[in-house]
Amino acid sequence: MIIGVTGGKGGVGKSTLSVGIVHALVKHGYKVLLVDADVECPNDHLLLGIQINEMVHAREVTVGKPVINEDECIKCGVCVRTCRESALFQLPGQVPQLLSDQCIGCGACSLACPVKAITEIPERVGDVYRYDVPNTSGRLTLLTGMLKPGYEEASPVVNVLMDVMEDVREGFDYVIVDTAPGTHCNVISSLRHVDRAIAVTEPTPLGAHDLDLILTLGTELKVPMSVVINRAGIGDETEVDDVVSKHGVPVIGRIPYDKRIFESYVRGEPIEHESINYIVNRLTGG
Ligand code: SF4
Ligand code: SF4
Repeated sequence: MIIGVTGGKGGVGKSTLSVGIVHALVKHGYKVLLVDADVECPNDHLLLGIQINEMVHAREVTVGKPVINEDECIKCGVCVRTCRESALFQLPGQVPQLLSDQCIGCGACSLACPVKAITEIPERVGDVYRYDVPNTSGRLTLLTGMLKPGYEEASPVVNVLMDVMEDVREGFDYVIVDTAPGTHCNVISSLRHVDRAIAVTEPTPLGAHDLDLILTLGTELKVPMSVVINRAGIGDETEVDDVVSKHGVPVIGRIPYDKRIFESYVRGEPIEHESINYIVNRLTGG
């Protein structure tokens, strides 16, 4: 089973919960693949005490960046009007210029060019790494996607990460996909591959607002959703309860604002807590 751990906003404890769930599943004897799909800021490896240079490079992620042949270009501007990312601009009567940072390598401009004046040159935008975590009797493997600094569009890295996940997932009892926060394209790319997803939230008005967004996205993607309330007890849960009722989804766990959890987090260790075991039991039917 592939389980997404997601959240409408950052900082709600998504990665901490993912690693905590994985840790508990491994302790229960399951073979687990953890996929860190928060490729702009991956940190599951840090929570497992792993440095990125210890991991095995699994795949390079490239996108095709357009190069315009100035001799062939008839300066019609079709490519500029086709680009939805505003990555091409054109001064009157000139050959269009590329704003490389904004180009996501979708290839639409080269397809649209009436005289085939655009070719695509592969450019590396990120990498996927794999690590078979030692001292787990082969029961825990981590896949991490990493967007190259300076690039804004994370979806190509998430898409390749999902391909690698599909290639290696056989033999694992559970795959836990720690998505990016929010509801944008790379979150959608991750959630399209999961069987079910947990939305992590916290009992604040902002947490409730963003929970509403991510549960709406889950409904649109037809992904069965459940909710975990992190830092339970720090505030009034009425607004979160209202959102949960509106979407008719179950709350499968409440993680209290507990000193032991905070101390594990500060030490960079996977959290071990009865609230995590409760969630894992709900997930495994135990
Ligand atoms: S490849 Fe796509 S994003 Fe890049 S310039 Fe062409 S149309 Fe725009
Ligand atoms: S669509 Fe082709 S011919 Fe037209 S401006 Fe762009 S590169 Fe030049």
